[in-house]
Amino acid sequence: MSSRKLEYYGSSILRNRSRKIDISSERDFIHSLLLDMLEVLKLQKGLGLAAPQAGENVRVFILNPEELNLKGHSVFINPSVTTSGPLDKDEEGCLSIPGIFEYVRRPFSAAVTAYDLSGEQFTLELDDYAARAVQHENDHLDGILFVDRLTPIRKRLIKKQLSEIKREYGPDSRIL
Ligand SMILES: [Zn+2]
Repeated sequence: MSSRKLEYYGSSILRNRSRKIDISSERDFIHSLLLDMLEVLKLQKGLGLAAPQAGENVRVFILNPEELNLKGHSVFINPSVTTSGPLDKDEEGCLSIPGIFEYVRRPFSAAVTAYDLSGEQFTLELDDYAARAVQHENDHLDGILFVDRLTPIRKRLIKKQLSEIKREYGPDSRIL
């Protein structure tokens, strides 16, 4: 089991803007970070995980290729995302915000260009839930959480639950 911690709602790491990775000079760091992230994703049976959730403010996220059609990709380093299409509404959750599942409006399509671990650049054109997952994870790299995208009414309704998460998990992360 990794010594890395999962960051929960209330952690300032989740609110920072993450920095880009230098793939060639940071290969060892990124490799061990990705191993830890994959372990967390598997343990928690998550759909995706962004590096800030594992305590690192770097622009990296992973998605579960068994759950989403990502044409063989699961690692996204220094991604850039462009959205298009009509707004679509579907349910989202987040490993850092346990127990809360809410409908979020997002564009139906997204193009993501990123690097894989070998430093190869690739572009994916995605629709529906894969496009949604990419947008959710990419938001994490800018310190944005899905609950920020809810309507004011829904936000008010989950306010108490959010403060309970903050209280239960504390401002600091805990070991997985
Ligand atoms: Zn999330």
